[in-house]
Amino acid sequence: MQAKFATITGFVAFGSLIIAVAVSAHGPASQPRGSAGGRAIEFPDTASHQTLVVDLHTHSAFSDGHVWPGIRVGEAIADGLDAFAITEHLEWQPHLDDIPHPDRNRAYQVALEAVPETSDLIVIAGSEITRQAPFGHMNAVFIRDANALVRPGVPPVPFDAIENFRTAAAWPTESAVQAASEQNAFVFWNHSWSEFANRKTEITEFHRNALKRGWLHGIEIANGATYSPESFQIALDHGLTPVGVSDVHNLIDWDYVPHEGGHRPVNLVFAKERSSAAIREALMEGRTVVWYRNELIGRQEHMAPLLSASIELTRAAYRRADSHVLEITFSNRSDAEFELENLTDHTFVRNTRVARIPAHAERTLLLRTGSRLKKLGLEFRIRNALIAPGTHPSVVFETGVEDHSGS
Ligand SMILES: [Zn+2]
Ligand SMILES: [Zn+2]
Repeated sequence: MQAKFATITGFVAFGSLIIAVAVSAHGPASQPRGSAGGRAIEFPDTASHQTLVVDLHTHSAFSDGHVWPGIRVGEAIADGLDAFAITEHLEWQPHLDDIPHPDRNRAYQVALEAVPETSDLIVIAGSEITRQAPFGHMNAVFIRDANALVRPGVPPVPFDAIENFRTAAAWPTESAVQAASEQNAFVFWNHSWSEFANRKTEITEFHRNALKRGWLHGIEIANGATYSPESFQIALDHGLTPVGVSDVHNLIDWDYVPHEGGHRPVNLVFAKERSSAAIREALMEGRTVVWYRNELIGRQEHMAPLLSASIELTRAAYRRADSHVLEITFSNRSDAEFELENLTDHTFVRNTRVARIPAHAERTLLLRTGSRLKKLGLEFRIRNALIAPGTHPSVVFETGVEDHSGS
């Protein structure tokens, strides 16, 4: 009895660590997005690339998720994703007794088989390499064989998920990450801020070494309901690709309430074509922006083309022949509600310093220009986009003014 109790206590203490990670991914991140309709996530292609919507971190009952992989496929199609990765924990297998799966590729295969013929959804094979701090969790995606990333020659410990984790995770983290890199995987550091509890994330010696050897390519900056400016800064400082994911364990509908306008965090990937290989290439080259709540987060060089494609100044004209009040019309082709902060020399008539352009909508704003201008360069700071922690990009709209002399 006593031994049994000790085991249960151990389970609770250990389980809370793992569950703390899972819970961080579960809070609702509902955000109205006033889309053109439905729940599909929609952003326009840029001038040079296709914009693909990708979630690189999901779980099913094959590790510690609570649904069958086919549900992940249905959710991905409903959310208008171009691709998603199924990334089971390799070492943390709480359902091991009920769903034994000696082949760690099984969740991916089941997901692949669940894609209906009418869908062109891309399913990416992945795994979550699961260790305690300071290593933390890392996802390897675009892998060929998940079995090669697990400690070789050691069978799972039946009926004891904790002991199984200890045994499997005893394999050096370096070995697992090296095995992933030998499969040309895109490897990213997950929810680093959860691993460190109250502390701010700092890059560790292990991650520096992995980076130096070319084994680490990205870092999550948004996971479920949470965002980490420290992790975004690490991405910028170390040339890592910023990643935003759902890390969903339950149902997307429970966590994000998409019927009320919420959405999961995703990467908007700027790819040369719509294929798994092109998505991998773009991620390796860092060509992506994270879409989290109503925020676009990424490097300036990738943010700028996305903003130009998403929001356009379509018309500028004075209200009347003798007026100094200019009407400017913006067209928003994206799911983001843009918050434009006025950096021009002119003042808004019907707004203070910030005007909002709702998702998939046109809005006309009024500006007092003080005199009749023939052309303008209008600068706005985009307050719902981040190109560094606390730094918003600004956009200059160059426009001629329609001639009203005939009216
Ligand atoms: Zn994790
Ligand atoms: Zn996970």
